[in-house]
Amino acid sequence: MKKIAALFLFTTLSLSPLSIEAQTFADQAERIDAEVYWKIRREGTERSEAMQTLHVLTDMYGPRLTGSPNFKAAADWTVKRMNAWGFKNAHLEPWDFGHPGWLNERLSAHITSPVKDALVCEALAWTPGTNGAVTGQAFQLVLPERPTKAELTAFLDGMKERVKGKIVLVGKHQIVPVTFNPQNKRREDQEARTQYDPNNPAPAVPPFAVAAPSPSPSPAASPQSSPQPPARLTPAGVAEQLDQFLVASGALVRINDAAREHGQIRAFNNRTFDTSKVVPTVVMRNEDYGRISRLLANGTPVELEFNIVNRNYPEGRTSYNVVGEIPGTDKADEVVMLGGHLDSWHAATGATDNAIGCTIMLEAARILNTLGIKPRRTIRVALWSGEEQGLLGSKAYVKEHLGTFENPKPEYSKFNGYFNIDSGTGRIRGANVFGPPETATVLRQALAPFEDLGVMGAIATTSRRTGGTDSTSFNEAGLPGIGLGQDPIEYGTHTWHTNLDTYERIVEPDVKSAAIVVAAAVYHLAMRDGMLPRFTKERMPAPPPPTPSPTPVPTPSPRG
Ligand SMILES: [Zn+2]
Repeated sequence: MKKIAALFLFTTLSLSPLSIEAQTFADQAERIDAEVYWKIRREGTERSEAMQTLHVLTDMYGPRLTGSPNFKAAADWTVKRMNAWGFKNAHLEPWDFGHPGWLNERLSAHITSPVKDALVCEALAWTPGTNGAVTGQAFQLVLPERPTKAELTAFLDGMKERVKGKIVLVGKHQIVPVTFNPQNKRREDQEARTQYDPNNPAPAVPPFAVAAPSPSPSPAASPQSSPQPPARLTPAGVAEQLDQFLVASGALVRINDAAREHGQIRAFNNRTFDTSKVVPTVVMRNEDYGRISRLLANGTPVELEFNIVNRNYPEGRTSYNVVGEIPGTDKADEVVMLGGHLDSWHAATGATDNAIGCTIMLEAARILNTLGIKPRRTIRVALWSGEEQGLLGSKAYVKEHLGTFENPKPEYSKFNGYFNIDSGTGRIRGANVFGPPETATVLRQALAPFEDLGVMGAIATTSRRTGGTDSTSFNEAGLPGIGLGQDPIEYGTHTWHTNLDTYERIVEPDVKSAAIVVAAAVYHLAMRDGMLPRFTKERMPAPPPPTPSPTPVPTPSPRG
């Protein structure tokens, strides 16, 4: 097996670092600089600054919704921090988001009759505030399933007087069953080894393959999965008509069911990004939504009170990626990149998604810079915005700087790979790179010395389809995007896009390991004689067919 060969070679090299000349051919040994790898481990273990970086990005500036003043403050701080560490060329790169920024400043929600209690909610992003406290009777609006336009219009016409001046719960209460079989937080070594073994024909096992599907918390109010006859409205069509109806009918507030266990709330955005097109909207924890639903079903009138302060920020139409470098030497015009997305959803401080990815990449670069290594190629850190709205920041960067295989810019031919991390706090288990098998072979050998930290290999992908996370923006262009796979810990089950995504959910030893692994792999790519192998013209997969503009409401997927 190649894996064993690589390990054997590494052992040999450790004993006698100069006994084998550097090779640029795939399937031949990469010359690993064991001394630098050891220094990276020591710096990353003994003098890590990762948790301090994480603290600032989450506690100080979170949540970092794209276009919000929080995001801009986090980006500005990161530039300052890069300068303080001694990175070069640290700056913000603007791109056109096209929507105003938005921030929820305050939200209080209470049941005031038949009992007094506080309720747990998050605002839906890009919805308006209530303009002071509002009180109203609760009304539960359950739409007909998969209606035609005529059916929905007739139904809503009949509801107009009933929602006027009311606080409207949209949809039935979702029953969320008790979980008897909790997911593993770590992946078994053998499972990770199989996933990242190029000789194993079995399809890769995504980390959250067994996660229970959760109902979409988006404003869509009808089933999304089964095919619909042409006359039926799409979920987006239903949502649009419903939004117009609620505004026109004078509903005070809209409430959606979070439909998750243990008070988890995932709040995304109003799909129009236009606060004038919707009523004030919250996503309420399933337990409170259920309580109100049962009271109403029992014939008990329920009175609710909301006070929501949301604000638009017109300057948020321009968003920013954060970029900084460690300049190269004899191959300075060639670039090795690493990064993650700095933006987050707004229900929590975005620790696992993805302040921690940014922290790991900043820490990896800090380690390399602190060690005073003089990389042959330029090492560039990029932290993106707009990832949660459809990889917008990284796509803008690739378009501006690199172009595509079919329509390249001058920097395209000098690009050596982009490492991305965006799956929570777990240690790194392997890498998935866009390119021919020999690309993965290089990475596999660069990562082989870290099996003790849980890294089990690297495999290649031929897919240029975007999705999931920012590495795929590079894949789409035909460039080697490198997605790092991680242990799930609590990502899919608890923290991903939820109100529980905070500093407390970070596993410090895993973060330190990840920064060490990334620093070493980046170092190796920056130093080796040859560029990271790519597809030849003959073997380059065709670009994916053009997709409709990115949907503002994300669907559950392992990353992002
Ligand atoms: Zn993410």
